[in-house]
Amino acid sequence: MKPSEIDLHKELKKFFGFNQFKGLQEGVVRSIITHNNTFVIMPTGGGKSLCYQLPALVLDGTAIVVSPLIALMKNQVDAIRSLSSEFGVAHVLNSSLTKTEVNQVKKDITSGLTKLLYVAPESLTKEEYVDFLKGVPISFVAIDEAHCISEWGHDFRPEYRNLRSIIKQLGEEIPVIGLTATATPKVQEDILKNLDMTDANTFKASFNRPNLFYEVRTKTKNIEGDIIRFIKQHKGKSGVIYCLSRKKVEEIAQVLQVNGISAVPYHAGLDAKTRAKHQDMFLMEDVEVVVATIAFGMGIDKPDVRFVIHHDIPKSLESYYQETGRAGRDGGEGHCLAYYSYKDIEKLEKFMAGKPVAEQEIGFALLQEVVAYAETSMSRRKFLLHYFGEEFDDVDGEGADMDDNVRNPKKKVEAQDQVVT
Ligand code: ADP
Ligand code: MG
Repeated sequence: MKPSEIDLHKELKKFFGFNQFKGLQEGVVRSIITHNNTFVIMPTGGGKSLCYQLPALVLDGTAIVVSPLIALMKNQVDAIRSLSSEFGVAHVLNSSLTKTEVNQVKKDITSGLTKLLYVAPESLTKEEYVDFLKGVPISFVAIDEAHCISEWGHDFRPEYRNLRSIIKQLGEEIPVIGLTATATPKVQEDILKNLDMTDANTFKASFNRPNLFYEVRTKTKNIEGDIIRFIKQHKGKSGVIYCLSRKKVEEIAQVLQVNGISAVPYHAGLDAKTRAKHQDMFLMEDVEVVVATIAFGMGIDKPDVRFVIHHDIPKSLESYYQETGRAGRDGGEGHCLAYYSYKDIEKLEKFMAGKPVAEQEIGFALLQEVVAYAETSMSRRKFLLHYFGEEFDDVDGEGADMDDNVRNPKKKVEAQDQVVT
């Protein structure tokens, strides 16, 4: 069957049980099954996996999926396998496998059983695997979390830079699919350049989250009292408070407890058992608040988080967007409150002091954007979305009135000057 004749809705239903494509998925799938380089930018939770999984299942050959985290790969493979017994056809190839397991995977690929092969970027650089993969039909290569290729992204991984040349060794004509939730124009440009796919069909979803309310408050000595008051105004609702250090996490969690708010700490310094317990308590609503470092939230999908508080301002607007994005997943209210003081910016700058110069420069540039966001008097949504290369209509756009600056416009500095003279 020609790709253009495939009934995608039928395949979607058959493999995934969904009746509708979400957002831009259908266009992406069509682009991939007609063998085009394709670039997908969608926020977390947008449904990027399906964009390459469905094409992999309907096309001949094996699709290679590059993914940075072994744990994430395993999740995806388990999820795919649970969909339908008809296609126990997803495999992982990475350093955690025994020799026997690797041989079994190779056998399944050679026999055409494997439709999706998940690999870590460092495995793909192994000569043994490259030689093997050269000999098998490959439908396309999907590179998930493609921002790892860019130094401007939040998770730069040098191994990602080798991917293009390896894919070329596997075959000049193999289509490449890049996927990311990082929307800054700089990172996008890097991805397209590094993957040598400036010709790619690009699909970019909106990053607007109209149900999130954005607010920045000046950080003062009374911050703890301020946070307590805020939480008491949101009695019975779930929330996350992000702090920069483990020490601060413990401190704030304790202050909240003393003040009658049920809260638990979460950071990488706690043992795995305690972390899991605190995470479960939050998910099961045994506690209202998790006070956490950024270690919290990677795999968390609690739909009704009603507020996200940043006790300390994050190091980039992307981190800010990701972390606030954990509020209001169910479409309901999500209040995003950040405390800002220039002292915290200086603290973050100090952390960067020991790093290589190039990294420092990027770090400073990202921080300047955070400062500009915190200090702006314009629509915060417009500012954030502009940072992600998206124009937002701050009069009629969805969620236009959902921030502190729009609700209570600050007097412009110029206006104050005029009053004085
Ligand atoms: P991303 O990688 O973009 O963060 P995922 O691929 O993990 O997002 O998908 C997020 C969620 O959306 C998953 O629970 C997935 O099952 C669901 N999903 C994806 N596509 C659809 C669809 N067409 N209809 C309903 N749910 C979908
Ligand atoms: Mg994903």
